Amino acid sequence: MTNETAPARPSTADGESASARPTTDDVMGVLRGVIDPELGTDIVELGMARGAVVNDDGLVEVTVALTTSGCPLRAQIQREVRSRVGGLPGVEKVKIHWSELTQEEKTAAMAKARFNVAQNAPDTAVPATTKVVMVASGKGGVGKSTVTVNLAAELARRGMRVGVMDADIWGYSVPRMLGVEGRLAGAEDEKKIVPMEKAVGDGTLEVVSMGFLVDREETALMWRGLILNRAVQHFLEDVRWGQVDYLLIDMPPGTGDVQMGIAKMLPQAEMVVVTTPARSAQKVAARVASMGRSNYLRIAGVIENMSAFVAPDGEVYEVFGQGGGQELADDLGVPLLGQVPIDGSVATGSDEGAPVVLDLTTGPAADAFRAITDRLVEEVPPVDMAGCTARIFEAAEEALAKLDLAAS
Ligand code: ADP
Repeated sequence: MTNETAPARPSTADGESASARPTTDDVMGVLRGVIDPELGTDIVELGMARGAVVNDDGLVEVTVALTTSGCPLRAQIQREVRSRVGGLPGVEKVKIHWSELTQEEKTAAMAKARFNVAQNAPDTAVPATTKVVMVASGKGGVGKSTVTVNLAAELARRGMRVGVMDADIWGYSVPRMLGVEGRLAGAEDEKKIVPMEKAVGDGTLEVVSMGFLVDREETALMWRGLILNRAVQHFLEDVRWGQVDYLLIDMPPGTGDVQMGIAKMLPQAEMVVVTTPARSAQKVAARVASMGRSNYLRIAGVIENMSAFVAPDGEVYEVFGQGGGQELADDLGVPLLGQVPIDGSVATGSDEGAPVVLDLTTGPAADAFRAITDRLVEEVPPVDMAGCTARIFEAAEEALAKLDLAAS
């Protein structure tokens, strides 16, 4: 049930034609970002995304077959399908038709999931239940790393286990900003790298950065380009991430191979774009978002950093202009997750390895980071596996065990 007449895909943020509709391939492309958290594989590969119809009025109908129609994960999959398909330019409405996999399809889906587990595909050690957020920006210096560490620290403080991957390989600053030092070591039992851990509040940070592998920043600079892509791939494949609820990736600035590589390895990743209020920053940030979309990544929202500085006397200084974040968000059709004002405590906190958000007494920037974390958790809610009774793997194991017993 394809719609061959659907117009060609728009180039998103550059906004060719507002009425251009996505193709069914585009819809199936973004559906590859919806992972069944139980089976650890995307719903297209599992055969659960049965098909999509793009109507002329912008209504997109998607048929999704579940392993068990009563599975509590249905709400989760529903939300993901809606937000990813709804995030495609030209989509006005999303309708999901539910059905159930037949017994044969269930067996096939399970075999596929098993095969993937056996092959360690899709080639990453990131748990299927982890929400992956790429923090991206058009250019350097807008506060991308600052935003990454503050959001990660706040999520951890709230009791989550949060991975932070510093993909800004040669411009790494995450270790210093989080106050984490040391050398990455291999796990004893397997050939994996164990992330550095830091307890924060009720939660834990797991951090991986080039900074834990090289002695001096200049060395990293020398490696620039040569191993960049390989390094990021290693960080995803060869790091023994724990059961992290979130994985925040501090992306290198700009567009490029790294983004595409990560999009391929982690199709479930979503992107948050950091920009300053300056209109000039907006165009480059829009390009990054546009590229993300062409890699079928969902853009979860925009964060404006270095917004107006409010002096103690109440005077407002718009050092980097105003309105850039909201404008970018409107252009992309995504929410503005918040604005972080210029605040000296942000830089001080980063220099001292104590993200400002953890200092409960400080002012406007820390408050902004907390509010943005609230919004992020709304937009990209953590996976809740509790209460899911459709553990078809276990059910299958039991059934097989019974068969074995009967046969013996
Ligand atoms: P990027 O990762 O985009 O290159 P950084 O996060 O390294 O940018 O930030 C660049 C500099 O700006 C750092 O010195 C940081 O401490 C400072 N900075 C970032 N955000 C703010 C803010 N809201 N207020 C004050 N200083 C900030």
